[in-house]
Amino acid sequence: MNIKSNKGYKGASLSVFKDFNVGVWSDVKITTTDGEFEGIILPRIETADDRHIVLKLVTGYNIGIEIGTIKTIEERGSKEAHYKIPEKEFPFDPVKPNVVLLGTGGTIASRLDYRTGAVIPAFSPGELYGAVPELADICNLKTHKLYGVFSENITPEHWLGTANAIKREVDKGADGIVIGHGTDTMHYTAAALSFMVKHTPVPIVMVGSQRSSDRPSSDAALNLINATWTAAYSDIAEVMVCMFGPTSDDYDLLHRGTRVRKMHSSYRSTFRTIGDTPIARVSNGKINLMKNDYKKRNPERTLELDTVFDDRVSIVYYYPNMKPDIIDSLVDNGYKGIIIAGTGLGHVNKPLYKSLQRATNSGVHIYMTVETLWGFVQMYVYDTGRDIMELGVVPGANMLPEVAYVKLGWVLGHTHDREKVAEMMLTPFAGEITERETIDGYLIMQGGLPEIEKFMKEIHV
Ligand code: ASP
Repeated sequence: MNIKSNKGYKGASLSVFKDFNVGVWSDVKITTTDGEFEGIILPRIETADDRHIVLKLVTGYNIGIEIGTIKTIEERGSKEAHYKIPEKEFPFDPVKPNVVLLGTGGTIASRLDYRTGAVIPAFSPGELYGAVPELADICNLKTHKLYGVFSENITPEHWLGTANAIKREVDKGADGIVIGHGTDTMHYTAAALSFMVKHTPVPIVMVGSQRSSDRPSSDAALNLINATWTAAYSDIAEVMVCMFGPTSDDYDLLHRGTRVRKMHSSYRSTFRTIGDTPIARVSNGKINLMKNDYKKRNPERTLELDTVFDDRVSIVYYYPNMKPDIIDSLVDNGYKGIIIAGTGLGHVNKPLYKSLQRATNSGVHIYMTVETLWGFVQMYVYDTGRDIMELGVVPGANMLPEVAYVKLGWVLGHTHDREKVAEMMLTPFAGEITERETIDGYLIMQGGLPEIEKFMKEIHV
């Protein structure tokens, strides 16, 4: 019997291959007790079970078929996938703006590794142009791979390194910077760059994708095109995040780097501006402003770096029945700053009070933010809030907990003087604190969710 490639398949699933004389890359029709499926058999993760066969359906989606349900498999051919995208040289046009794309990793720079079944970072400038040739119509794009990590592995070192790279490229005359980054912690990096990169003369646009570019539903190309366009032509000289607005491939939103947050684990429209409106919408080479209070592009301005960070900071997300040892252990382990995400207007339980007092007495800087994300900390409303302030905990206005964390590390890189820290923490440097929350700030669905609008229209009781 002609045994075909069995990449990752073993035991029972390999026996099924033998029974029907098929293998990896076979183009098959599988009849199961749950119906018929047509597609290509994909390699399997080496460590996965031997009870499933993975099929790439003609729609492009991958499914796992439980082998117990299989009645027959008919092979119609074989199609080995070549996931390497052809490399191409970016053309140069002297009249077009010059944009630099800095790669740090994440899904946007990834494709599937069929040995492990995982998405691996594999950024290459030439591959990028091969995959999204439209970029050459927009600008002269130079690419530079800084890192190749998934964003959970990003550290303050990467923030500093990225800030330095931005400075280098802007000083060399870039008209805009795009930063490819994993989406999971993109809002932390956006905040860090917002504090560390001052007076940028040009747009700095962070971009990622929720689905890798070998998936039919990938948002990588559209996000990249819109981000590159923003970097090349927009007059918004700030650190921004450019990601899908609605769930459809309609437009991207430009979010201010200190007010943006990843809000959904899998939707492509995962980023939302919290407590404010996004700066603009971008699609088809057009920017529709949603606010005017942004810093304008100005090539005369010189970018300055403020790349300091004291990483002895932490975020504590309060939950009922939190025990004081959580705070004590941070203090005992030498942490110098704590951001609390408190309940409601900014509260924690009474059993923590003694530990908080001990912490602030020993010089630890503690700032309160809210778990609700929207809204301001307001510690004057209840006695408990006032009591917590008396322990030395400072209300952090409407800074998002993650932004307050990044900011406290940055501020502690400058000073540990209690008053100076407080002054810096409560002064907005990059839009991280707003004077008030605009009436339209509470727009969880910025960009609209057609499914919800349809549901709302249809529901009558
Ligand atoms: N885990 C990935 C990352 O943040 C997800 C993504 O890129 O969207 O690096």
